[in-house]
Amino acid sequence: MEDFIKIEMYQCAWCGKIYRTDQRHQCKFRPSFRNCFSCEHCRSIKVINPQEGRYSEKRIECEVRGDIPVLALSVKDWKWDCPEWQLISGYTGKNTYSSRVHAKYLQEPEAHTAASEDDDDLPF
Ligand SMILES: [Zn+2]
Repeated sequence: MEDFIKIEMYQCAWCGKIYRTDQRHQCKFRPSFRNCFSCEHCRSIKVINPQEGRYSEKRIECEVRGDIPVLALSVKDWKWDCPEWQLISGYTGKNTYSSRVHAKYLQEPEAHTAASEDDDDLPF
């Protein structure tokens, strides 16, 4: 018996993360989901009331449909299937998205409840 055994790993072609299985990762950067992360119309991510140590509400700024809460995409496992969706030219995944879309940090009155998102929903 040797001290190490060989294992297999999988890398997501869209975001670059490494996984032990190729079955469970539903990548939000996958173009077949037709969501904002691969769409030409996404202009920015608005982060509402950013506070250290707390989750902030995030909204996609879509030039066609206005603001879309990231939480709304998240609860559909990123399968948005938007009729206005248009693939970014030359799209290769997270890198393309990150170089185009930047976060805007906004302060708004505490009228709405903060969305409960995990760290995986951060814009970059
Ligand atoms: Zn991925």
